[in-house]
Order: sequence, then structure tokens, then C-alpha cells
Amino acid sequence: MSDNMSLRGQRGNLTRRQFLASASTGTIAAVVAGAVPAYAQGARKAGKCAILGGTPVRAKRFTSWPIWDKNAEKPVLEILRSGKWFRGSGHVVEQFEEKYAALLGAKRCVAVMNGTNALLTAMHCLDVGVGDEVIVSPYTFIATYNVILNSTALPVFADTDPETFLINPDTIESKINDNTRAIMPVHIFGLPAEMAKINAIAKRRNLKVIEDACQAWLAEFGGKKCGTLGDLGCFSFQESKHLPSGEGGAVVGNDEALMDHVLAFHNCGRVKGKSGYPIVGHNRRMTEIQAAILLNQIERLEADTAKRVENANYLTSKIKDIPGIIPHRLYEGTTRAVYHLYPMRYKAEQFNGLPRSRFMAALSAEGIPCSSVYGPQYNDGLIEAALTSRSFQRAFPKERLDRYRAELRCPGNEQLCQEAVCFTQNLLLGPKSDMDDIANAIQKIYENRNELVKAQKA
Ligand SMILES: *Cc1c(COP(=O)(O)O)cnc(C)c1O
Repeated sequence: MSDNMSLRGQRGNLTRRQFLASASTGTIAAVVAGAVPAYAQGARKAGKCAILGGTPVRAKRFTSWPIWDKNAEKPVLEILRSGKWFRGSGHVVEQFEEKYAALLGAKRCVAVMNGTNALLTAMHCLDVGVGDEVIVSPYTFIATYNVILNSTALPVFADTDPETFLINPDTIESKINDNTRAIMPVHIFGLPAEMAKINAIAKRRNLKVIEDACQAWLAEFGGKKCGTLGDLGCFSFQESKHLPSGEGGAVVGNDEALMDHVLAFHNCGRVKGKSGYPIVGHNRRMTEIQAAILLNQIERLEADTAKRVENANYLTSKIKDIPGIIPHRLYEGTTRAVYHLYPMRYKAEQFNGLPRSRFMAALSAEGIPCSSVYGPQYNDGLIEAALTSRSFQRAFPKERLDRYRAELRCPGNEQLCQEAVCFTQNLLLGPKSDMDDIANAIQKIYENRNELVKAQKA
């Protein structure tokens, strides 16, 4: 920011033309003029990296998130003033459920308090629980591990395909045994898992499919929305997500009886048309105010999604030929990926061995925030903490837990965790020139790779 300010001051009473001519690099000109850096338009003169004291490619902030508009104020205030704050007194949660089901082309939707509890509800209602094994992708937000462990079940990790960031369907079948109850594919970053293969395996082996679609609002595989492809689909509406309400979630499905069970279970076990509490339940209800925020947010979801997709595709076209940068691959059958994060892989070899952490620091210094996102979280301690707990010790014979530990290996996932570099969804909401900045910053670091490696050794 201060660089930008001093440049503005320095421009002083030079004419725009004089200033552009005097600027030593295209980058400086770009920062002031707000245009695409000159070197990226063919000249390819990168200038000094910002992390080594040069001028950053970008001084502006990217689009911030969440975005809300004034139309949300009235309905939220009305609920507040009415005192009808829970779904038993109002109808806003129900309205949202109908709208979201229609948007996805699902028969039914039950809104819940968050995505974690959507997954727990789906597991309970599909009778996935104590002593079971659930085959799952290791490359995911930790909630996916937690819901399985919280159900006193074993998360059995199929391997990740580093090219797609998704569960490799070819590694699923060898993990199936008599204790396997379900497959939980995760459409990570809004990239659809290869559902045709996954559903075929599930059908052949008589397994349930619970889609963790907590990052995949409006993503599609085979022309159908993610979350409607398995037995049940689960969504999150947490603040960072594309359809946010601070906290929030939903379970969607097409089986009426199963969805009746979901509805009853999430509402303390109250079964429609029956008195008392004939089944076990939980309270996982969404509040009316959450639903009012969602009804406002849902208005922008399609346009935002289209923008992210367009920018993501453009960014891919700009960076795909930079050596050492490998954009993600989509599975055949994918009809829409929605980019909760934009993922790519970084090959340090092609950057003269510049470590990924240094590449990311250099990119951040250029004004492009980025993240390595997920590590091999199964090594973080939570698995062992669960396996040694009293409930697991009672639910599983020692030999099963020993075998589980011995087989916990995911080489594809380990590789991906070393190579991934991602940009969060809000970076994809601005103009095309924001994508140019990202691509130009990567290109600049590539061209400066020797200097960056040298500076590190010094
Ligand atoms: C966000 C998320 C969840 C959990 O949702 P919460 O609403 O935060 O509880 C689960 N799985 C994935 C992949 C997520 O990104």
C-alpha cells in the first residue's frame, strides 16, 4: 500500500505519458495506471520481485467476502421484531428449503445448523455408525474426518489423485470389506468427484453414498447438481462459503421416506403425523434469521458462480504454459466446477528448486494471497486420539485397529499436500484484470527464480 502511495506522490506533475516512459518497469506503470503490466503483454521484462525489494504486481485488495446488500436488512429486522425466531414459529426456514431444493433439482432439503451437522445427520439417517468403516477422501476440510470419528466409525482413506485433487475412484475397491458401510466423496474446492464410477462401485458393493458437497453449491457432474447424486448430499453455509449465513447447512435427497427421517431426526425426533417421540432425534434446526440471510444470498449465487467459473477458466488459460505450474484436471463427466478455491500444483524443480513456501511468500509479497490449504491431517493426532479412546477400544477389536493403522498410507495425497497452491474464491469475483495480476505475478516469480534461489542461499 505504502509503495503505491509513494508512487502516486512521485508521479507529481509529470504527464501520464512522461510518467509511463520514466517508470523503470511495467509493474510500476501498472500499479499507478491500474493496467496490465507491460511485460505480460509480450515484453516479458519482469522487474525485481517484491519480496526482494521490488514493486509488487498488485497493490489493490481483492474482492472481500461475504458480500451482502440492503435487501437483506428488512427481512432480518422483521424476524427480529416479530419474535418468531425458530422454525416452529415462522416459515422462512421452510421457504429456504423449498428454494434450495428447487435450485438443485432435488426432491427435498432439510436445513440444519451447519455443514458438520448436516454430515452427522446424513450418517445417522443412513445408519452409518459405531463399528462401521467409511471410505473417504483424505484431501478435505477436517470436518469430514471428524464426523466419522464422532460416529465411532473408521475413516478409511482412499487415495487422492494429485491431478484432480479428488478421491481416486480406482483406489476405493481395495479398501472395501465386510465392515464398510458407506463412501463419502468430497467435491473439494467445488470440483466434482467422479460420481459415475463412485456410484457404480457403491451399487455393486451395496454401500451408501454420502456426498460432502460442503464446497460444491451448483457444481455439476453429468448435468446433475453435486449433492443430488448419492443417497444424501450435505452442504455448508458457513461464512466463507459461496452461500453464507455465518453458520448453516443442509441435507438434500430424493428419497421421500429417508428425507422424512432426516426432518424428524433434526427436530428432536418429532415424526410428522405421529404424536410423541417415536424415534431417536437431535436438535439441529436452523434459525429463521439464518434462513432470511440465505434467501437474500441465494439471489446472487448463480451470477457469482458464473463469474468464478469464467475467471477460473481464464486464469487457467493464462498460467497453464508457465513451467512448473500445473492447473487441476477435471474428470470426464464434469459439467460444472465452481471453485471454492482455485487449485494448482507447484513443481519446485522447474523453479530451480525454489521451495513452495518461498514461492508462496513471493506470491503474497506481489499482492496475491495464496495458501497450501490441506496437509496430511491424518498425521496430526486426531486419528490416534480417537483409536485410543474408550469408545473405540470397546467398539473395535484390537486387531482391526492395528490393521487400520498399518494400512493408513496415501502416497498420492502426500504428494499433493507438498505441491498444492490455491487461491480463495473471492479472488475470482473481480474483473479479468485481477486474473492477469495473478498470472503476471506467477510469471514474474518464474522469471526471477534464479535471483530468488540465490537470495535464499545468501
Ligand atoms: C465447511 C466444510 C464442512 C463443514 O461445514 P461447517 O458448516 O463449517 O460445519 C465439511 N466439509 C467440507 C469439505 C467443508 O468445506
